[in-house]
Amino acid sequence: MYAPTKRQEKTYTVDEFMQKLEQRYPLQKNYLQAVREFMEVVIPFINSNPKYHGYKLPERLVEPDRLISFRVSWTDEKGEIHVNKGYRVQFNQNIGPYKGGLRFHPTVNEDILKFLGFEQVFKNSLTTLPMGGAKGGSDFDPKGKTDNDIMRFCQAFMLELYKYIGPDRDVPAGDIGVGGREIGYLYGQYKKITQQHVGVLTGKGLSFGGSLIRPEATGYGAVYFAGEMFNRQGWEFEGKKCLVSGSGNVAQYATEKLIDLGAKVVSMSDSNGTVFMPEGMTREQWEWMMILKNERRGRIEELAEHFGFVYLEGQRPWGIKADFAFPCATQNEISHSDAVQMIENGVKAVVEGANMPVELEAVHLFHNKGVLYAPGKASNAGGVAISGLEMTQNSMRLSWTRKEVDEKLKDIMRDIHDQCVKYGAEAQDNSVNYVKGANIAGFVKIADALITQGVV
Ligand code: NDP
Repeated sequence: MYAPTKRQEKTYTVDEFMQKLEQRYPLQKNYLQAVREFMEVVIPFINSNPKYHGYKLPERLVEPDRLISFRVSWTDEKGEIHVNKGYRVQFNQNIGPYKGGLRFHPTVNEDILKFLGFEQVFKNSLTTLPMGGAKGGSDFDPKGKTDNDIMRFCQAFMLELYKYIGPDRDVPAGDIGVGGREIGYLYGQYKKITQQHVGVLTGKGLSFGGSLIRPEATGYGAVYFAGEMFNRQGWEFEGKKCLVSGSGNVAQYATEKLIDLGAKVVSMSDSNGTVFMPEGMTREQWEWMMILKNERRGRIEELAEHFGFVYLEGQRPWGIKADFAFPCATQNEISHSDAVQMIENGVKAVVEGANMPVELEAVHLFHNKGVLYAPGKASNAGGVAISGLEMTQNSMRLSWTRKEVDEKLKDIMRDIHDQCVKYGAEAQDNSVNYVKGANIAGFVKIADALITQGVV
């Protein structure tokens, strides 16, 4: 085993490290936030573990292996030409091929994709499956576009992206704005260009290599993870009021699982507003919402109108009284002042379905006030875990049943929870700091692989 020539006993403080990174990337606020949250627990861990000294692990982990950006020119169905930016951030490949979603949203830029790619590295490590971390996407806005336009854009995007991906190299999936429809068009184009029918994307349709439970996996997984947290506290879902934000893929299936477990989902939302359902959403209302969102591509306001619920225009759900919160929409959707209000309203646990939906100050507040808080890299890892199992099924040319995949998802979420307890349990009262647990558990596996593979 190689060793650094000069082992430093105490390497960094978090602020020293972050200052250098802030100088290098002053405008990348989301990326800096994600790195700071991680380093606040990992740098002290490195400092107290000499086996990690001197390898420059923090520096090596925060720089992506490469950041690919490209122009996407495409013509809409009316003949108008559009130009978008496309990206793939291949962050870390130490424990497996690059793996992570594609996001189509007007806010996509290097900052957003670096934050997501960085988180993905440690999330994938936590799943225990052999997957490196990546993220990609475009500033293309699918909202209001026709199916034809979506297809044309996806084809133009893949015409460039295909050069950098492959089943043993980099396997993208969905994220905001990229669901089954987009993955279908992207896959069709990949196959057309390369003449290969391989597991190069996950989230595929069932008829061409997709896995059962993949659409449900992130939302179900977050609720399974919450179940593990609540078991430790002796809490139950039955009758508990839950705030859910978002009404996309993750929110939809978190809501379904919460309803199945007897919880009362009192809110869903989109970027225009929130629907407030005081008695909790019923199964029938959920089914109506699924058609509204996935077939008619409608807005959450229509759910409120149809069932006579209160619609809180321009508002997020965080002012509503509830027991638990499941933010499932987007980054930084819970501010410090939202967190103050949630605590006043009696929220006892916050479980992230989205990536980094809670601002760092609010995370600290939840921690200090004893609100149970699960970071997305642990609680929303179910999606990528089942993507990993989709890759396995593709390689083995077989498909597991719904029950088999759901059982594997439960096992993986339980295992991630166990890792959080292992590295995050506090000696004084045996409470679990899930931020500490998830980040250190994710780090250890990557760091050990990185050290073993030499300076590359
Ligand atoms: P979708 O595109 O299916 O849904 C996103 C939802 O969030 C929509 O309801 C959308 O509303 C809302 N939203 C998006 N941006 C904003 C905003 N700025 N303010 C308020 N609401 C907003 O995406 P997913 O459900 O797939 O992803 C949601 C989150 O979960 C993201 O953070 C993603 O990174 C994370 N995630 C997703 C995984 C997956 O498997 N899909 C896996 C792990 C994490 P509107 O329609 O108005 O834009």
